[in-house]
Amino acid sequence: MSEAHRGEKRVGETVTGEIRPSLVVMKFGGTSVEDAKAMLRTAAIVRGRRERGLKPVVVVSAMAKVTDQLLAAAAAAGRGDKNGALAIASRLRNRHLDTAAELLCGDLFTEIRAAICKRFDALDDLLRGIAAVGELTPRTTDKVMSYGERISSQMVAAVFAQHDMNGMHVDARKCIVTDDHFGKAAAQEAAIEAKLTEMVLPLVEAGHTPVLGGFIGSTVEGITTTLGRGGSDYTAALVGGGLRAGAIEIWTDVNGIMTTDPRICPDALRVKTISFEEAAELAYFGAKVLHPATILPAMQKSIPVWVLNSRNAENEGTRITAMAPPCASPFKCIAAKKRLTIIDVVASRMLMSHGYLKDVFDVFDKYHCVIDMVSTSEVSISVTVDSNERLPEICAELSKMADVKLEGHKALICMVGEDIRGRSGISGRVFSAIRHVNVRMISQGASEINMSFMIEESDVDEAVRSLHAEFFQDPDPTVFDTDARVVAAKA
Ligand code: ADP
Ligand code: ASP
Ligand code: MG
Repeated sequence: MSEAHRGEKRVGETVTGEIRPSLVVMKFGGTSVEDAKAMLRTAAIVRGRRERGLKPVVVVSAMAKVTDQLLAAAAAAGRGDKNGALAIASRLRNRHLDTAAELLCGDLFTEIRAAICKRFDALDDLLRGIAAVGELTPRTTDKVMSYGERISSQMVAAVFAQHDMNGMHVDARKCIVTDDHFGKAAAQEAAIEAKLTEMVLPLVEAGHTPVLGGFIGSTVEGITTTLGRGGSDYTAALVGGGLRAGAIEIWTDVNGIMTTDPRICPDALRVKTISFEEAAELAYFGAKVLHPATILPAMQKSIPVWVLNSRNAENEGTRITAMAPPCASPFKCIAAKKRLTIIDVVASRMLMSHGYLKDVFDVFDKYHCVIDMVSTSEVSISVTVDSNERLPEICAELSKMADVKLEGHKALICMVGEDIRGRSGISGRVFSAIRHVNVRMISQGASEINMSFMIEESDVDEAVRSLHAEFFQDPDPTVFDTDARVVAAKA
């Protein structure tokens, strides 16, 4: 990665405080800390930044798949299956102890082994308690899930200490202040900034490398919360924003933001630069590489965000910044969001009736259900939602005012690019590329940087590949990494 991004001119800067150009927040996802080898790679990357005179603050996820397994343990306990829950926790305990034994020695190993055992003893007690009551609440689920990041961050801090990088563990729950919306808590940015300034900044200034667990926080009363799945990216942005970092780096397992999910389309190309707005649309509409809330704290303070590959640290990655360069292709990326449901609300009463839309949307609002897309006709409203928990209650209320029909297993495809503004003929190309696919609802976002439509979940892979072939056949080399394609063609 070039050094050019450090201290670059910040377009539309809104902060009053000074940016700290040498402070860099580096977030490492689950695969970047999945085992001893990955943790050593992570340590080498952070060391590289320190050797360049930068001051890293590190945010880590739980080791890969640990959050899923903690959730499975919590669910087992909630069903009263105490032994099943404890068996999962025991496997996790051994995985963490084995990894620590590979990485650490002497007092550091003794200390971390004791810390891991203490945490897992507490987790076992918690699981026993859940199993005894036979009830799992969102609050206890958050508590169980928090162990993944709490333990991984302690381990990574110890690895940094072992490698003379002055690693210092900070309990993220003491800094990331949230409300009590368990499972998807909202961050309280002013309080977070104050805590970070009090607890993390002095460590940075004293030459330490602070390590925080991502994803976790706590209410002002000290009750543990989580920020939603994939939320460690969001923690990194909150820490970057709160400390007014010069850059936020999201280290993951792909070369950056790609033109589409490389797991669906192996031809996907790295996008070199993308705007905050484009990245936000992309994240919201399903590109797992970035948590949707990540962009806002960075955008508000115009802190550039980089998405980088911890398995290929030399690669330049993707730079997300205020202004994206113009691009010859209309789209930069294609995102797909699966597991959506369409709700059709049909009532002849809607015709000419004031306030009808409001009544319908009030029902969704009452159950905190987020709507992704809306389309209306004279007598019907179709909306798409991705949270299914409250659907029975929502449908029961809607049924009082209309006929309601649910269609599950739908997916949303979102094509993102600032350069679709003012271009004609784009939708013709989109729908002709997927003419064999049944398209349900279509929307061109008010922001004019996305075009979205609903299809069957089972058609997603084929539709994404067809659209990719149509729009990224001849990619603009100023925006996309076309070298990768040349190499592949030669091979
Ligand atoms: P981490 O654990 O590092 O947070 P995630 O699994 O959350 O990593 O996100 C990285 C994954 O996101 C990639 O492995 C890739 O399959 C997926 N992904 C989806 N859409 C994109 C995209 N447009 N560009 C890059 N990766 C994407
Ligand atoms: N460990 C959490 C998850 O799997 C948060 C994250 O990795 O970002 O959702
Ligand atoms: Mg992630």
